[in-house]
Amino acid sequence: MNVSFDLDGTLICPDKPVEPLAWPLRLLARERLRMGTRELFARLGQSGIVPSIYTTSLRSPTSVRLLFRLHGLRLDRIVTAHHHGEKLARRGGEYAKIPDEYGFAVHVDDAPVCPPGSPMDSRIVLVEDGPEWHTKLWTQLRPRE
Ligand SMILES: [Mg+2]
Repeated sequence: MNVSFDLDGTLICPDKPVEPLAWPLRLLARERLRMGTRELFARLGQSGIVPSIYTTSLRSPTSVRLLFRLHGLRLDRIVTAHHHGEKLARRGGEYAKIPDEYGFAVHVDDAPVCPPGSPMDSRIVLVEDGPEWHTKLWTQLRPRE
């Protein structure tokens, strides 16, 4: 299953606790991942899911990959604003993101990115605010038998 994650407000939240990083790595990380990201990614990995990133921010894919590498995490694909604009324009104004264009079966975000009731809306999983956000997400993302 292809799962994509938003960054701002989802995995990068400056106002929330962050994953620990050892001292030399901390110097290289301009940003930090939200506490719980490692545990969630580990669980996904055990189910054979390598997460992708789908953000409308202007971070470069290289810097995103580096940030996750510093935290010991592997990513599949990275879609940023650089890829996004053209495809979005074709879809019309209602959509903030279009996960199906990139083959993502599920997209995790902090904001509803598709019109309510649209076919793609069912692919969006909203992240919660509290410290248990990652266990709650896991119960929604884990593969069912
Ligand atoms: Mg966001």
